[in-house]
Amino acid sequence: MYDYDLLVVGSANADLVIGVERRPAAGETVLGSDLAVHPGGKGANQAVAAARLGARTALLARVGDDAHGRLLLDSQRTAGVDTTGVLTGGAPTGVALITVDPSGDNSIVVSPGANARLTPEDVRAAAGLLTRARVVSAQLEVPLETGVEAVRQLAPGSRFVLNPSPPRPLPQELLDACDPLIVNEHEARVILGAGQAGSTPEDWARALLARGPRSVVVTLGAEGALVASAEGLTRVPSVAVDAVDTTGAGDAFAAALAWRLGTGVPLAEAAAYAARVGAAAVTKPGAQESYPTAAEVEAL
Ligand code: ADP
Repeated sequence: MYDYDLLVVGSANADLVIGVERRPAAGETVLGSDLAVHPGGKGANQAVAAARLGARTALLARVGDDAHGRLLLDSQRTAGVDTTGVLTGGAPTGVALITVDPSGDNSIVVSPGANARLTPEDVRAAAGLLTRARVVSAQLEVPLETGVEAVRQLAPGSRFVLNPSPPRPLPQELLDACDPLIVNEHEARVILGAGQAGSTPEDWARALLARGPRSVVVTLGAEGALVASAEGLTRVPSVAVDAVDTTGAGDAFAAALAWRLGTGVPLAEAAAYAARVGAAAVTKPGAQESYPTAAEVEAL
């Protein structure tokens, strides 16, 4: 009945990374390493993560008519993502300018570019894709109204998953549609608002659930995750691995969770699988380059 296990609505960025001895202060110029260009952006990352696991995946996003846009389309197609929903033009492809020092600390400037031009109108024009998706997942690197429109265009019986990153207060319509809302600690605190968060993941999960989502998942890095729904709260253990680079682990987790939920497994079981995918993703450098296949998850 559905052509896609997962449709990701979200961002696609080129990550431009330069290693430096010291990140520059105001007015300063420093010399760095050769430039490395990686496909990234939360939407593009999620789509690649799901496709590598074997999900029939499509991406609704916007890139520029430029080399970075072609790099992003290439990485999606190589992973097996259906890119008929990737729109081109209107602004340059979004980029993240990243400097990293030897201690691993970084400074990042993001130019949203074409991501900021993915409009509710684009979502309405892609209604044919939305109605063919069992699960739709979104993040907040594209305009908030675009996410709201995706909720309005959902097929009856399909499921909406949101990772509200970067976090900001959410309209009720978006909150009510989430099943689940996936947050880390920082996102939980911003969405709940200052002084209202409590101090434990259980507090955040209960407080977020009371705001309207049908379920909530709190990711806890090396501590795993916590799932919450009307049926109660369950801790999901992490898988012990040697972490090399946590970039993109949250995106891999969200994509894996969204896909598994669509296959009909219960929330805690889907989160346990997603925790294995997140753990596999931190064992290799990079974001999309670190995402495991289903066989690699099995072997973990
Ligand atoms: P975000 O990147 O959004 O902050 P997290 O850091 O919580 O997300 O990572 C998402 C998921 O990836 C975690 O819930 C966990 O399952 C897995 N993960 C992240 N870091 C590690 C780690 N060091 N060891 C094992 N699993 C990890």
